[in-house]
Amino acid sequence: MLEIAIRRKSYPDRGGQPHLALSGLALNAAPGEFVCVVGPSGCGKSTLLNVVGGLDRDVDGRVSLGGAAPEHGIGFMFQEPRLMPWLTVLDNVLLVAGQSDAAQRRARDLLGAMGLGEVMDAFPGRLSGGMQRRVALARAFVIEPKLLLMDEPFVSLDVPTANRLRAMLVELWQRCRCTVLFVTHDLREALSLADRVCFLSAAPGRVVLEYPLALPRPRMPDDATVQALQASLLAQHPELLAGLATAGTGSDGSADD
Ligand code: ADP
Ligand code: MG
Repeated sequence: MLEIAIRRKSYPDRGGQPHLALSGLALNAAPGEFVCVVGPSGCGKSTLLNVVGGLDRDVDGRVSLGGAAPEHGIGFMFQEPRLMPWLTVLDNVLLVAGQSDAAQRRARDLLGAMGLGEVMDAFPGRLSGGMQRRVALARAFVIEPKLLLMDEPFVSLDVPTANRLRAMLVELWQRCRCTVLFVTHDLREALSLADRVCFLSAAPGRVVLEYPLALPRPRMPDDATVQALQASLLAQHPELLAGLATAGTGSDGSADD
């Protein structure tokens, strides 16, 4: 079980005063659960993932990874593909997996299954944006992660490309059954992917509403069922995407002082 209880996470502002990014944020995820985190820009979503992934340890709070460890077992995917331009596609994937025979085999199988077999020896600069994201997705899965942290990984892609990547992600996740924490500001994307959506307040971020989903997969953001769900959710909580759940129905985060 992934258990997150952040009392306070702040950054020093220009004058050296603490600027509160997260406050009283409580969030758990069961093993194998796909959790999407939705919140307005600047509410602390990237901060949350950095804290959970151990990239930022300057925090007043507790994260229990339930078996994964920052040194291994956590896969990351960021907004930009973050590939090394001087390494081939295969070597970019092996960078996180090591050079053992088993890692080589896993990387080649994965790249092949993801339609990247032909470009394994190419450099990332030659690939389209969509293909670069696919490489980043392969790199996230090649270590067979227990926990996968994704920070708006499919933004600024055209709709069909983003949808193909989403389908690929769900397929890979269904095979490995890792826990996923997927951050997005796109509600329909969240509804098309998640077992549960956690909505964050505006800054400083905390969970204001948890929304479990029982829709069968595969789903796509433009499915009628997903659109209907979005409409009913926003009818019930008109200001949800601004970080406000209608009083009385949201979780209060419960890690407050
Ligand atoms: P989101 O990903 O939801 O858009 P972030 O986690 O990036 O939000 O940022 C949350 C808040 O913390 C913002 O006000 C942002 O300006 C601030 N912040 C983020 N990273 C830093 C940093 N390294 N130093 C100072 N302030 C930061
Ligand atoms: Mg962000």
